[in-house]
Amino acid sequence: PQSKLPNLGTTIFTQMSALAIKHQAINLSQGFPDFDGPRYLQERLAHHVAAGANQYAPMTGVQALRDAIAEKTGALYGYTPDANSDITVTAGATEALYAAITALVRPGDEVICFDPSYDSYAPAVELSGGVLKRIALQPPHFRVNWAAFRALLSDKTRLVILNTPHNPSATVWHTADFASLWQAIAEREIYVLSDEVYEHICFDPQGHASVLAHPQLRERAIAVSSFGKTYHMTGWKVGYCIAPAAISAELRKVHQYLTFAVNTPAQLALADMLRAQPEHYRHLPTFYRERRDLFIEALRESRLEILPCEGTYFFLADYSAISDKDDVSFCQWLTTEVGVAAIPLSVFCADPFPHKLIRLCFAKQESTLLAAAERLRQL
Ligand code: PMP
Ligand code: GLN
Repeated sequence: PQSKLPNLGTTIFTQMSALAIKHQAINLSQGFPDFDGPRYLQERLAHHVAAGANQYAPMTGVQALRDAIAEKTGALYGYTPDANSDITVTAGATEALYAAITALVRPGDEVICFDPSYDSYAPAVELSGGVLKRIALQPPHFRVNWAAFRALLSDKTRLVILNTPHNPSATVWHTADFASLWQAIAEREIYVLSDEVYEHICFDPQGHASVLAHPQLRERAIAVSSFGKTYHMTGWKVGYCIAPAAISAELRKVHQYLTFAVNTPAQLALADMLRAQPEHYRHLPTFYRERRDLFIEALRESRLEILPCEGTYFFLADYSAISDKDDVSFCQWLTTEVGVAAIPLSVFCADPFPHKLIRLCFAKQESTLLAAAERLRQL
C-alpha cells in the first residue's frame, strides 16, 4: 500500500537492541533496566490474577489507581487533579502521547517540539495532518531560546510538546522555563503536552519542575507519566495522563478506541503499591545518581567526553576524540566491533546534526556498567 509514513522505518530502539542481541553486545542503547522492579508489585499482580481480576478495567482506569495517582500528584505538585474527570490510565506513556496528539491536532495545525525530541511525537503529529515546527537545541545544555520560540508562534500553532527530564539530552526544565512558556502562549489558544515520564529521576538540586505545578499552564496541559520508569518495569506498559476535564474528555474519545482500557491486574497491583509504599519514588534520584556516577568514574580514563546529566537514566557522550564516523555508523561499529550498544543522537533531530554524540543508558547493574566501561576505555 501507499505508505502514510513514507519516511519512517523501524525505531532506533528496536534496531539497536536487535543488533546488540545479534552481536552479544552489552546493551546500553534502548532504555530499560537490567534489574527487576519491586517484589511487592509482582506479588500483588499474581494476587490479583489469582483472585480473578481478569476482565476489562473501566475505560478511564481502575478507580483505586486513579485515586492513588490523584493523591500522589497533590503531595508532589501542590495540585490534586479530579480522579474521575482528569486522570486517564493508558498503555504506557506512548499511548497517552499518541491519544493526546490525536485528540488535539487537526489537519494544518502547527505543533512545536524541541529537537532532539523523543521519536514517538513526530509520527503522531504527521498522522493527524499536523505540521511539526522543530526548534533545534544545542549541546551541551540544550536550553530553549525563548525569543526563537516566540518567533515560531503563529495563528496556526495548536500544541507545544516538551519533555523534562529530557530524553535523550538528560537536561531538565526549570520553573523559569515554564514561566517563559506561559508568557509566550498566554494570549493564544495553545495546548501543552508535557512528557514527564522521568519525573522521579531528576538530579537537579531544584528537583523536577512539572507543568502541573504551574497554575495557569496546567489549565491547558496534558502531563504524561509512566510506571515503567518509576518501578523499573518497562514491560508492564502502564502509564497515565493528567489534564483538565474538557481536555481529558477529548483525549478519552481517542483512548476508548485505541485500547479502550489497560490491563486490569497490573493496575490493581500498581494501586496497591502506591498505597503501601507512597514514598517509594523518593529513593530514585539517589539510586540512579549512584549508577550514573559509578559509570562516569569508570569512563574517566576513556576518550569519551561525558555531557552534563541532570535527569533521566541516560547521558550523552561525545566521541569526537575517538572517531570521525557519523553517529549512526559509530554506534553500529561500537556494537559489532567493541561490544557496546548505544543510540546515535542524530535520529532524534530533523536538521542535520553536526555533533558526534551518542546516548548511553545507565539503568544497569554495577557489573554491566563496569564491563561496558572496560570496553569503552580501550577506544
Ligand atoms: N517518553 C519518553 C521521553 C520516553 O523515554 C519513553 C520511554 N522510554 C516514553 C515516553 C514511553 O514510555 P512507555 O514505555 O511508558 O510507553
Ligand atoms: N523510551 C525508550 C528509550 O528511549 C525506548 C522505548 C521503546 O523502545 N519504544 O530508550
